[in-house]
Amino acid sequence: MTGTTCPMCERWETDTDLRIAELTYSWLILNRDQFFPGYCLLITKKHQTELFHLDTAVRQGLMEEVSRVAQALSLCFRPDKLNYELLGNMVPHIHWHLVPRYRTDPLWPRPIWSEPHQEVQLSAEEYRQRCNLIRQTLAGIAG
Ligand SMILES: [Zn+2]
Repeated sequence: MTGTTCPMCERWETDTDLRIAELTYSWLILNRDQFFPGYCLLITKKHQTELFHLDTAVRQGLMEEVSRVAQALSLCFRPDKLNYELLGNMVPHIHWHLVPRYRTDPLWPRPIWSEPHQEVQLSAEEYRQRCNLIRQTLAGIAG
């Protein structure tokens, strides 16, 4: 944090119950709304807006982290498809929405924001277990 009011810069410190893993270039946290089971946010540690603002080595390392996390989510949740969303219109700090999707989900095959949905909140224990599952699976993937 450097005195800005960017919520993504603060997310790792504020959402401590949703922390999954600190990686080299990014933080991985579980999204509080679990309407889409396994929905995670992968947030760059540095406040940057566009991929092309990153040094090449950082960008390449970051993309490897995105890919490893997607593989972990795929192993944990067995979705029909992983969605990778990097928009930044609301919060211009590079962060991926990594979302396991199923053909049976009510919004399929549209984007997750195509219509509103009722938020799904888990118990503290359920959040803890889901974060642990993803963390342990991620640790088993070479990278
Ligand atoms: Zn930021």
